[in-house]
Amino acid sequence: MHGWKWSSRRRWLGAASLAVMLTTAGCESTAPEAAEAPEAALAVSLDGAFVAVPRATSTAQRQQVEQQLSGVVEDAGTHFYLAIKRSELNQKWFLSTFFKQAHPGGVLYGAGATLGTRVVSFQEQNGKLFVLDVDDRKKLSDLFDPQILVEAYPVVTDYGPFNRLRGSDQYVLVDPSAGLNRFGAVADLYAWSTRFQTELSFAQRFRTLSDGISFEQVFTGYSDLPDDLASEFLEPNGYRLSGTLALSLRRYKEGAGYSPTPMPTTPFYFEGAPRLITNSGAWQEVAAMKWNVHPGMKPIPWLITPSVLKLQNDPRFQGYDVVGAVKRGVENWNQAFGFKVLEARVGDAGLDFADDTKNVILFDTDEGMPFAFANFRLNPNTSEIRGASVYLPAMWLVLGDEVFDSDPGAFAAQPKSAPPLRLSWSGMAGQTLCDLDLQQALGDRATGTPSTLAVGAALTKKQKVEAYLTHVVLHEIGHTLGLRHNFAGSLVDDGSPTSVRSSSVMDYSLDDDAIQVTTPGAYDVQAVRYLYGMDSGLPTLPFCTDQDRATDPRCATYDRGSNPIPFRLYYFNDLAQRYLTTEQVPSYFDAALSVRINKVLDFVRVGPAASQLEAYQGILASVRPPLALPPGAPAFYGARADDIALRVLSRLYLDPVRQRGVFSGDAPATPALTAAIIADVRGILLNVDGVRGYRSRRAMVDLLKQHQTLAAYSALREAREVITAQLPALAGEERLQSEDLLARITSALSPYFR
Ligand SMILES: [Zn+2]
Repeated sequence: MHGWKWSSRRRWLGAASLAVMLTTAGCESTAPEAAEAPEAALAVSLDGAFVAVPRATSTAQRQQVEQQLSGVVEDAGTHFYLAIKRSELNQKWFLSTFFKQAHPGGVLYGAGATLGTRVVSFQEQNGKLFVLDVDDRKKLSDLFDPQILVEAYPVVTDYGPFNRLRGSDQYVLVDPSAGLNRFGAVADLYAWSTRFQTELSFAQRFRTLSDGISFEQVFTGYSDLPDDLASEFLEPNGYRLSGTLALSLRRYKEGAGYSPTPMPTTPFYFEGAPRLITNSGAWQEVAAMKWNVHPGMKPIPWLITPSVLKLQNDPRFQGYDVVGAVKRGVENWNQAFGFKVLEARVGDAGLDFADDTKNVILFDTDEGMPFAFANFRLNPNTSEIRGASVYLPAMWLVLGDEVFDSDPGAFAAQPKSAPPLRLSWSGMAGQTLCDLDLQQALGDRATGTPSTLAVGAALTKKQKVEAYLTHVVLHEIGHTLGLRHNFAGSLVDDGSPTSVRSSSVMDYSLDDDAIQVTTPGAYDVQAVRYLYGMDSGLPTLPFCTDQDRATDPRCATYDRGSNPIPFRLYYFNDLAQRYLTTEQVPSYFDAALSVRINKVLDFVRVGPAASQLEAYQGILASVRPPLALPPGAPAFYGARADDIALRVLSRLYLDPVRQRGVFSGDAPATPALTAAIIADVRGILLNVDGVRGYRSRRAMVDLLKQHQTLAAYSALREAREVITAQLPALAGEERLQSEDLLARITSALSPYFR
């Protein structure tokens, strides 16, 4: 299929004089030079399913458009109608949409990602050409099989130069820029929060593909809700949004020999589009998303945008093999398959990252984007992946260069104002790009990985930076192959120096662990081989994914080891010890300690009984009463220890639930835990070691009241007796504070149980 090729159109534009090009009959121009152009100037042969037909415009129109769009879009002079062969209208076509550019916000607002693929057909009706969604998933019953309209384009009947072409009667001519302009894809993007009304739109960059066509739609519109962040991107009107949507129409096709993999009960994979089970009232997942992969296949090409060369040639990064590191992130997946499935190379200068026929790694030169993501284009009928893209900003290289050092001892304390968030999304419109809590990441990383935890010192800095980049790409390509996150990957690490750090590159790993995982892990190999039909057994290695993070504290990001509690205690103690011994308190301390406390208390709240006690005893080990002052402890040591114990116990029971992090429930009052907690609380309340302040002691009364157990009741009664007996010997502020403490206890006991 071919019509009017981009390159030939350029030649045609070049050859024609401006006057001839712009003065074609049928337009409403009143310009004096308006006259019908010779038919030959169309240079169109009507011999494909889709043919672009050059469209006349007036000089005034053209000047207006060029003025408005100057410097914003390429080739503002693109004007075409679209002729579609009538015999092809009933065929099935893939309609793919890719959100190419967005203002404000760019990638942060969804640019650089597909908005999905529909299966469509056309119907000419009442002067319009309607686009119908005809995938075979929505048939309810033998009687109800709805027709679903996606778009309508006005049919152009009065364009003389086209009408006089031989064979034009076999085509319907439409204006692709004059549809509803509430294009399904665009509307879908904003429907989650607000209505979006397109105000202006035009089509550009028509291209013929081997199996269809593509063009772009430039649009500006308004939403019903304002965006507070618009001004950060120099857009003064928070209601306005502009963008470029790349559309392609390609002939429907299912891969030869493609055989769907039913979705297993455990969600190792991304689910394809669900399908109604006709006549049953139910629906089902059809299959896991996957490519049509088989031995002997032609490898799936991945193209890296040539922007990568800018970073490769940047003096800061010339020492690294940037291109090679990215390529390895793609091609190392071939090890999981056992034959060549993927191959990567740098694309040429003309590469369009929104091209539906290409799989592209968008190497963004923006050094301020702290994430990466993958998305894929799917046949909704079969869950076959037809194409994919990965967004990879330069941040990963900049960060790797900054973080890694050849000297293992020097790896520490790199406060980052913009911590790296490795974010991924499944490619469906409306899904948020951000599934990580910024504060959580900050809490983990604000002070860097403690240097004694660093591994991989045998690698040079160059090797580490390249390995880091490869790891990130490998992770994202893993998503495009259909794999979901596996945050249980780090559980295979037994703590020995030679242990693998993770069984899965689909985990979120600490920087030092990430550089150890540059090829698919044992789990990844199992998952890929089952999905692609090379092994019949489901993955057997530990697995948990995004939704499990809300119920299982062992299913966590950026952790380490088969028992994550010592690792989390290490992080907590690393910060706590600095607070106990260093007078100057860093600005990030409150936020960081809060997160690290939560991450240990996760196990107290929801861990199994043994973990519960291990975590609780561990977190108070260095600060519980009676406090053991280390030799040479500074004068503030006792007060700081009192403060940390107060923070931990308050977080466990007294602080607002929203401050508790992922796991917000109360800890189950098992006998062992209750005994341990009451012993600590009693010691603080009675100030058995002389370092506890009245603020902590009062909080312990509140805690015991909240506990609502006989053990807590008993501790309060004992405290009332002890403090009453102490009172006569006290004087001044001490006495006043103790009297108030006693009043609080009396109040808590009158009565105790609610
Ligand atoms: Zn991911």
